[in-house]
Order: sequence, then C-alpha cells, then structure tokens
Amino acid sequence: MAAPHISSYYAATINDDTQYPALEGTVSADVCVVGGGFSGISTALSLAERGYRVVVLEAQRVGWGASGRNGGQVIAGISGEHRLEAQLGDAGRRLLRDIRYRGHDIIEERIARHGIQCDLKHGWMEVAARSRHMAAMRAYVEARRADGDGAHLEIVEPGGMDRVIGSRLYHGAVIDRRSGHLHPLNLCLGEARAAAAIGVQIFEGSPVTALGGGAKPFAKTARGRVTAASIVIAGAMDRAVQMGPLRGLVFPTGSYIVATEPLPEPVAREISPQDLAVADSNVVVDYFRLSADRRLLFGGRCNYSNRDPRDIRATLRPRMVKVFPQLKGIGLDYAWGGKIDIVLTRVPAIGRAETNVYYMQGYCGHGVNVTHFAGEVVADAIAGTMEKLDLFERIRHVRLPIGQFLGNQLLALGMLYYRLKDLL
Ligand SMILES: Cc1cc2nc3c(=O)[nH]c(=O)nc-3n(C[C@H](O)[C@H](O)[C@H](O)COP(=O)(O)OP(=O)(O)OC[C@H]3O[C@@H](n4cnc5c(N)ncnc54)[C@H](O)[C@@H]3O)c2cc1C
Repeated sequence: MAAPHISSYYAATINDDTQYPALEGTVSADVCVVGGGFSGISTALSLAERGYRVVVLEAQRVGWGASGRNGGQVIAGISGEHRLEAQLGDAGRRLLRDIRYRGHDIIEERIARHGIQCDLKHGWMEVAARSRHMAAMRAYVEARRADGDGAHLEIVEPGGMDRVIGSRLYHGAVIDRRSGHLHPLNLCLGEARAAAAIGVQIFEGSPVTALGGGAKPFAKTARGRVTAASIVIAGAMDRAVQMGPLRGLVFPTGSYIVATEPLPEPVAREISPQDLAVADSNVVVDYFRLSADRRLLFGGRCNYSNRDPRDIRATLRPRMVKVFPQLKGIGLDYAWGGKIDIVLTRVPAIGRAETNVYYMQGYCGHGVNVTHFAGEVVADAIAGTMEKLDLFERIRHVRLPIGQFLGNQLLALGMLYYRLKDLL
C-alpha cells in the first residue's frame, strides 16, 4: 500500500488525485525508472517523447518525496557553480549556462503543452542578509552580464527594498526575472499525467527492493519485476537501491515549511509587492513566497541534530515574524518537512553506477529546475548522446564511507558552523 502524501498545503490543494496501480508480475520495457519525483517523472517523459517504452516504479505516491513538498522556488543554476568551473574549466562554463535555465525552459514548455495548472509566476530574489553580501551579488551580476546572460538580472540597492519586500531586515537584493515559483506537487502530478498519456506505465506503492545492470538489467519489487535495457535511479533512494558509487555520496538533511492562513490582500501586497520567490543569502537559508491563494509559505532549517523537530510551527514562527513583524499572531494552517539531498561538492551527481544503470541525485536545494535538466541529460545519454553525461561523470565527488548516520552528524555539525558564521 502506498503511503498517502504527507499533510501539507500542497497535498491539500492538489488538482489531480490519479492513483496508479502497484506492480504485479513481470513487465518488460526499454527503460525502468526508479522513483516518481521530478527526477523520475521528468526523465520518463523525456524518454517517452522520443518513443521509448518506459516503466516508473515509485515506492509511495508520485511526488511523495521532496518534489511534492518543496518551497516551489524555480532557481537558476546550482550552489556548486565554482566547483563545476574549477573542475571542468571551459566545458564547465558552457555546461553551467545550460544548467542555469534549461530546466526552467522544460518546465514552461510542459506547462504550456500539457495545460498543467501549477500557479507558475516569474520573479525570484536573493536578499542580502548582511551588507557585505552585496559585493558578491554585484560581482555575480556583472560576470553574468559580461557573459551575455544577465539581462534579466537586477540589483536592488538598500534604498530600493520597499519596492520589493515589506521587511526591514535586508541590505539589498538581486532579482532574477527568469526564475520564479510554482506549486511543485501539481507540476509533478501534471507531468505524470502527461507521461501516462503517451504510454509511460507508472506504478505506485511499488518500492524497489533490488536492482542490477549488466547484460540483463532488472528492478525487483515485493510482487513484481521489470526487465529493461536500462535502469535509472532517479533521486536519492532508500538503502535498497544505493549501489556502488552511490554509497556515502548523498546526505539527506531536513528542511521545513509553514503555510500561514490566507493573508488579507493589503497585507500580502505589503510583504511581497511583486509576488517574488525569496531566499536569503545565508549559507543556512530562509526561503519564502506567497501561494496562489495568498498564504506566506516560509521555509528553512529547524535544527542541527538532523532529527525532525518536535514542533515545526514553534520553530519557524519566530523566524518568520523576525522577517515580517506584521505577521505576528497570524494563523499557521500547515507545517511539514522533507529531506534535501546534499552532496558535499554541491554539484549534482549524474552518471552510471554500472553498465546500463544511470543515477541522478544531490541537487542541494536547487532540484525544481535541475531535476528537469538532469532528466534530459540522462534521456540524451540513453538515446546515445553522451556529451553532458560524460562531463558530469568527470566531476570528482566526495564520498564519506562512514555510513549515513555518522555522515549526517558530520553534515549537521558543518551546517551549525555555517549558521554561527551567518549570525556573526
Ligand atoms: C522542504 C524542502 C524545500 C525545498 N525547496 C526547494 C526549492 O524551493 N527549490 C528547489 O529547486 N528545490 C527545493 N528543494 C529540493 C527539491 O525538492 C529536490 O531537489 C527535488 O525535488 C528532488 O527530486 P527527486 O525526484 O530527485 O527526489 P524525490 O522527489 O525525493 O523523489 C524520489 C522518489 O523516490 C522514491 N523512492 C525512494 N526509494 C525508492 C525505492 N526503493 N523504490 C522506488 N521508489 C523509491 C521516493 O518515494 C520519492 O518519491 C526542497 C526540498 C525540500 C525537502
């Protein structure tokens, strides 16, 4: 039995409750995709559009993981841009231009082509939590403009902040008008519907318990088996599916969101006059935006023990009120959390675990855009165009062969260090 979506603003406002069956018996396909989040559904759709027979195996429900729980911010690029450039040089710079907005384009094309209702709005802003952070923002915009890729970027000087946010906490900002925000669960469900309509077989409640590559790739569930020419491990999986190079690579770290009750229109306009998605410039980021029905969705990390907090509302409310004192006393209708898949290099891990077994994971909080790009990279590779996959396989990732528990404790300590730095 598939677990239902966790209680969240998104689950309460889905516009499609299609239930896909569990896998029973043996099925054959060209490609078997494991995981029904953005990575899996997006890859499946990219492959089916090229005529491949695709099966998706999802342990719970489509969009049940991070893809159906996130902040909905469609952000340009990755947090490890410098590392990608440092490791790949010019080829890395060219790849970065693709990573920045290719996912945006794919999402927008699919929304338009398949009529997916998911509240897409343009406009994303990084706000400077410290005045010294403005120098890096200015340098970034200059570099992007020099590269011919920055016309949609705009610096907001401290004196102009009233125009973009109803908060006194920040020291300036950079706006990216090509990025934006959306309802991620409705996007994922809409893409799944589009994939199913062109023949992708989706199975929910079907956790993969074993898989293998080589001459006869397969994925096995409790009551079924898929044989396929290729397998795609799409996203950070549970232990059953962590093979070879995936061990010690990704460290899931908790992030949490509260959704207020719908705000009166004047209040919503005051706190977010341009309806932008916002993230602050700290290493341990606070992020927020308005929903289509004018709730503030406010997210961030809750603790450094890597255990789920006992009371998400009690932890995030003071942070939200510090940013927007006008929201003191406002009701919080929903609170939920999920795991962000962190890789230490901060460059997504995309490659092959074995012959014919592909993987994609480690988006470090930038997955809405980058999962869609990664899905295309893997679909290209399966179709025979290896250029981008080859580049990702050249990235030297850091693996910690110390088990997930210890690794997570180390990561939590590292995050605490950065949080203290943010605060000083
Ligand atoms: C609270 C939160 C806020 C975030 N905010 C943002 C944001 O604003 N912008 C942004 O770009 N990114 C954000 N992210 C990150 C983003 O959501 C992820 O990077 C992205 O959704 C990853 O997609 P995925 O498909 O790889 O993984 P998932 O969506 O987690 O999908 C993996 C799927 O695999 C399934 N699965 C696991 N094991 C098995 C198995 N053995 N067999 C079959 N299926 C299995 C799971 O059930 C799951 O559905 C956020 C993440 C969280 C948790």
